[in-house]
Amino acid sequence: MTPPTPPTVHLAPRVALARLPTPLERSPRLGAELGLELLYKRDDLTGLELSGNKARKLEFLLAEAEAARADTLITCGGVQSNHCRATAFAAAKRGLAALVLLRVPDPSRPPALEANALLDRLAGAEIRWVSHDEYRRRAEVMEAVAAERRRAGRRPYVIPEGGSSALGSLGYVAAVAELRAQLPEAWRTGPLTIAYAAGSGGTGAGLELGVRVAGWREARPVGFAVCNDAAYFRAAIAGLCADARRRWPELPEVPPAEISVDDGFIGPGYAQTTDEALSLIRHAARADGVLFDPVYTGKALLGVARRASEPGGLPSSRVVFLHTGGAFGLFPFAERLARAE
Ligand SMILES: *Cc1c(COP(=O)(O)O)cnc(C)c1O
Repeated sequence: MTPPTPPTVHLAPRVALARLPTPLERSPRLGAELGLELLYKRDDLTGLELSGNKARKLEFLLAEAEAARADTLITCGGVQSNHCRATAFAAAKRGLAALVLLRVPDPSRPPALEANALLDRLAGAEIRWVSHDEYRRRAEVMEAVAAERRRAGRRPYVIPEGGSSALGSLGYVAAVAELRAQLPEAWRTGPLTIAYAAGSGGTGAGLELGVRVAGWREARPVGFAVCNDAAYFRAAIAGLCADARRRWPELPEVPPAEISVDDGFIGPGYAQTTDEALSLIRHAARADGVLFDPVYTGKALLGVARRASEPGGLPSSRVVFLHTGGAFGLFPFAERLARAE
């Protein structure tokens, strides 16, 4: 692959957290098995202690936090949130405090710390357990925690769920330019599917904006929902793109009808997985030597595999699979993975 030039997004400052560019690799076997030309964009290798796609968003979010002289990052997510854990490590790296609100069924009976929640604590983040009800009002609850910190003389900066704001999405506007520069000429000029897992929509918004900023008409992002349906994600992604355009009017418009989201592989829901996804994770580890996670990338890869076998199931047979990370998510499924053969 041609050596890439580091991309720049001139819209907002960033701090360096991610190791960029991430590698672009050909799938050694799985792609051919699926009848695809399959490349992996290895955003699981952004570094920041395995923070995957969150590292790209946090580069922009932390630049804003530091410009505001913040000393405490506040964010929220599920108990196994990759984003919260990434924020905890980004905070530690930059000498900031972190407070994460983690959603659990019963905050008075918090779960044993394992996987990502354990790593939050390891990185020094303060954990507040919140109920599903409180989580529904998360913006309000985070604002209340921020006010409490201000009264204590701190300078908090609130990061929305998943790091998914217009600003966080710029990480993926830059990633599209990075990817384009890495691709062989033929891949840049023909139809291309960019497959990704959609969790809170920030990555999708960045990709949709990014391909338009690059004038890259042949590239079609396809999001595989890991929770919520396609209509939800089309609205969420279009909403983030519209926010971005209000802030940076030079950005292109992204009509909801042009956003492709496939909600056929959600399984039982957020933070959960299916036997089919676990079995594909095992197969991909053996066939390609690449590790996918059960609740994001494994479901998206399953979506790619299934749609590849349907005529017109994907926009093209050339596919870049955006590997967004999530390896720690394997461990809560250790038993099921060990049992499955
Ligand atoms: C957060 C996350 C996603 C989803 O990204 P969004 O921008 O929230 O849609 C996908 N994969 C992994 C591994 C993640 O941690």
